[in-house]
Amino acid sequence: GNAAGVAWELLGVGGELAKKLGVELCAIVIGDNVKHLCDEAFSYGASKAYLVDDPVYKNYRTESYYKAVCNLVRKYKPEIVLVGATGLGRDLAGAVATDLLTGLTADCTGLAIDDKGFLLQTRPAFGGNIMATIMTEKTRPQMSTVRPHVMPMPPCDHAHKGTVIVEPSPVKENDILVKVLQIIEDSRQGADAIDVSAADVIVSGGRGMLSKENFGILQELADQLGGVVGCSRAAVEAGYMPVERQVGQTGKTVRPKIYIACAISGAIQHLVGMQDSDVIIAVNRDHHAPIFEVATYGIVGDVFQVIPALTKRLKDLKKQKVAC
Ligand code: FAD
Repeated sequence: GNAAGVAWELLGVGGELAKKLGVELCAIVIGDNVKHLCDEAFSYGASKAYLVDDPVYKNYRTESYYKAVCNLVRKYKPEIVLVGATGLGRDLAGAVATDLLTGLTADCTGLAIDDKGFLLQTRPAFGGNIMATIMTEKTRPQMSTVRPHVMPMPPCDHAHKGTVIVEPSPVKENDILVKVLQIIEDSRQGADAIDVSAADVIVSGGRGMLSKENFGILQELADQLGGVVGCSRAAVEAGYMPVERQVGQTGKTVRPKIYIACAISGAIQHLVGMQDSDVIIAVNRDHHAPIFEVATYGIVGDVFQVIPALTKRLKDLKKQKVAC
């Protein structure tokens, strides 16, 4: 009954594309009792919402959802279809593109319209070493998935209204072979349960942290700032942190207010996951480290001296504030 935030982020970038093409910005809303999501889509800029509301869509199943989307696409012929690259979104977009025999560019980091009206879909390629711009010239719709937090969240205006187009479901329960028998909640607690992509402050550590235990100093700093601890892939591979905390191309994309990169070199695959953070503070003893190229503030020094000093200073400032 809730939409993933990335859906609204896509309405933001979708609005810019629609304006450039001179077409409408529409939302597809599928589910069981989800009419309220049409209003939410209007407040993020959609002028129309195609609603397919039926108990058959209570739980996500590839077959029912892709048939519903394909039915709408064949009827209304959109130029572009954007899908959030969540687990379910990736599954859905692939099935829809396959059925429609059209192209799909996964995990785009940039979307624009060229002079001829084609969608320019930019994404990292060859292990992140180049940015490739991909076009779907011969088939329609042009389809892209975009990961959460890659595009900025557009402003929400509850006064903005639109039109709901109610569409009947093209599938019946008996047509669907897959049945959902039970949903088992992910019961992992503690470190693994923290969602780095939702945090406002992230203190991330890399290979230079040298051990799992040393991440404790990053946790202390994160606690002072009300943030969470993230890491590079090298830190995951070394067994210092769980993969859920990894930031980057094959980890999470983050857009926090403050990102503190500690002993992280700044490989391109790490940068694509964090370079849109509002403020980036890099601590590295190598002043040539590429992380300094994206950093707002750079501290050339040893993390084992700099981080405890920052934490102490924050604690002192808080004490002074309480004393006042
Ligand atoms: P290193 O590159 O080894 O850097 C360690 C840094 O710590 C150095 O700059 C060093 O100067 C500094 N340092 C060491 N000791 C100290 C100290 N005491 N004080 C201060 N500084 C110190 N990487 C990701 O992070 N996320 C991804 O999602 C990701 N996806 C990838 C996908 C593909 C297809 C490929 C090929 C690679 C991917 N990588 C990813 C790996 C990436 O290329 C780098 O190998 C990785 O980011 C390096 O991690 P790091 O910066 O922690 O380690």
